[in-house]
Order: sequence, then structure tokens, then C-alpha cells
Amino acid sequence: MSRVFNFSAGPAVLPEEVLKEAAAEMLDYNGTGMSVMEMSHRSKAYQEIIQTAEKDLRDLMNIPDNYKVLFLQGGASQQFAMIPMNLMKNKVADYIITGQWAKKAFKEAQMYGKARAVASSEDKTFSYIPDCSDLDIDDDADYVYICENNTIYGTKFKTLPNTKGKTLVADVSSCFLSEPVDVSKYGVIYGGVQKNVGPAGVVIVIIREDLITEDTLDGTPTMLKYKIHADNDSLYNTPPAYGIYICGKVFKWLKKMGGLGAMKEHNEKKAAILYDYLDQSKLFKGTVVKEDRSLMNVPFVTGDEELDAKFVKEAKAAGFENLKGHRSVGGMRASIYNAMPIEGVEKLVDFMKKFEAENV
Ligand code: PMP
Repeated sequence: MSRVFNFSAGPAVLPEEVLKEAAAEMLDYNGTGMSVMEMSHRSKAYQEIIQTAEKDLRDLMNIPDNYKVLFLQGGASQQFAMIPMNLMKNKVADYIITGQWAKKAFKEAQMYGKARAVASSEDKTFSYIPDCSDLDIDDDADYVYICENNTIYGTKFKTLPNTKGKTLVADVSSCFLSEPVDVSKYGVIYGGVQKNVGPAGVVIVIIREDLITEDTLDGTPTMLKYKIHADNDSLYNTPPAYGIYICGKVFKWLKKMGGLGAMKEHNEKKAAILYDYLDQSKLFKGTVVKEDRSLMNVPFVTGDEELDAKFVKEAKAAGFENLKGHRSVGGMRASIYNAMPIEGVEKLVDFMKKFEAENV
């Protein structure tokens, strides 16, 4: 068996020990004589899996009791619609546009009410986070929306926007569980799990209870109502059962690693190896302003498209996979989520140094 260093932005690298455990349990989960994939979601064994997963996530993130944890489907993109359908009581919401994913959420919300773009960093290809300390927040805004870590552009909000008392909604898909968060500052935190947490097909929504109401926009489908899922403990219909089981294993792994504080330290150390090299390289350079750099997604360029392509090709041949930047920006991007070992980043930097020596 040989595993590569996988720098994919998502689906992405998962902890090897989680994959091994899942493999060992594939044919017979815990004496049930069946795989979790084959199991009724109403069975006792599965109830225990989903309940333990929720409890471990609550422990890791220190989620207050007045928040519900929902395990849903439809990816992060489905939340682009569910959020306005469930939260837009006044039909007004303010969006901060820091990349493609925030923009898609904004466009979706425009279908349901008055969605306003109150800040944007599009003028400089989303290479920074705009100043959000004194925004023109609408008095009637039902919520203020951010994409907290911008997967494509490699920026991260280091301080949350001043929402002037309005509910904060955050897409944390690409920084989920990468560092501690104060859940009480948000009304909704949600993320697709396929980057830091588990296999694609699961989206986790952490939502303050008072935001879960019957009062949704007219025509909201049953499956898109938070209340239905909350009232049924994420088992209104068949959930993405196997994916939730893997998420549960990742939560256990995170606890074993020391929790989110330890993960943050680990991620800072790992990202610094790459950023420190980029800051002094004569060939490669990072594309994001220093103070807004993501710990998870690190875009960089040589400034020459042909050389970028040569780098990606040679890196792949050397066992470093998925370093090509997003199709909308080009260049390279190394996604270094929780499960990427430090060794992966050290080896990548060694390879970049070698490439630099050969190509400058
Ligand atoms: N938000 C962010 C920050 C993302 O990175 C992505 C996917 N890369 C999405 C939303 C969309 O996720 P999905 O494909 O699960 O709908």
C-alpha cells in the first residue's frame, strides 16, 4: 500500500487511523454482523453511533445547550437556500462577499428576499478580508452572512464582523474543527464535512434554538425546514448514515489529539512551515495579504502559468497530489486540513525548494 500526500481542497485527506478502523469494522460493526452501511438507521446500534457523534461534537466545540446539532444532506450548497427560507422573516439579509461560495449563497438568497452585499473584497480578487467593524447593516436584517474561511482564495476572518446585534450566520466548511470557536457568537454555524471532518454527503448545522421555527417562507419544502430535522433528531428520513459514522470517528480522533486548542497549535505550526518558505522564496509567492491568511488553504503562484503547470505535474509525480489551484484562479493551492501530517508539509516545502533551485 502506498498513500500519497493529498492536498485536495475537498473531499480531502482523513486521519489514517480513522480509515483503518472503518476498514476493520466494514464487515461486522461491533458484533452486529453487518456493516454500518447495511444497518437500519432506527436500530439501537445506529442510535448509539449518531448520539455519540453529537455528544462528542458538543464536547469538542463546547456547544451551549440552547443550540441544536443537525446532521443533514445536500452539501453546504443546500444551506445557501435553507438559510433564507428558514431565517428571512423580514425578507432582508446582509451578505459579506469574500469569495465564490459567499457569492453563491448571496445569489441564492436574492431569490427569496432582499439580500444586500454590505462588503466585498472582489476588487482585489478576494485576496483579503474587508474591514467589517462598521458596516451599513440594515435595521431589518434577519441575519448577517459570512463565509468564514474562503477555500478557493485562502483567506480567513480573524475577527468576526460587527453585526450590530444581528444574527451571524457562518459557512465554516473549510475551517470546521480546525481551532476553537465561541459558538455563542453565532446564530448558525454550518459546514459540509468533506474537508476537515468526513466523507462528502453530510452537512452539519449548529443552530440556536430560537431560530428554529414553523415560520418559514411560503413553499419551503418539508425537507428544507430546520424544525422538521430538529424535532426528529436528524432522523426525519434516512440520514447519510455511513458518513455520520465516519464523522463520529473523526470527532473521537480529535479528542484523542487533544481537542481544538491542540489542533489549532498543530495547524499554526504546519501553516507556518509553508508560509515562511513562501515569504522568502524567489520563485513562489503567496496570493493573500498576510493578516488574513487561512491556516487551511494556501494558494501560491510562480507568476508564470507554464511554470505553474510544470510544478503541479512534477509534484504529482513525486507523490504530492491535488496541488492545482481552483479553476477560477489558477496557480497552486495546498489544502492542509487537520489530517494533513506536518511531515506532508515539510516534504512539500523540500520539494518546492528543489524545484526553485532547478527553475530560477
Ligand atoms: N462553502 C465552502 C466554503 C466550500 O469550500 C464549498 C465547497 N468546496 C462549499 C460551500 C460547497 O460545498 P458543497 O459542495 O458541499 O455544496
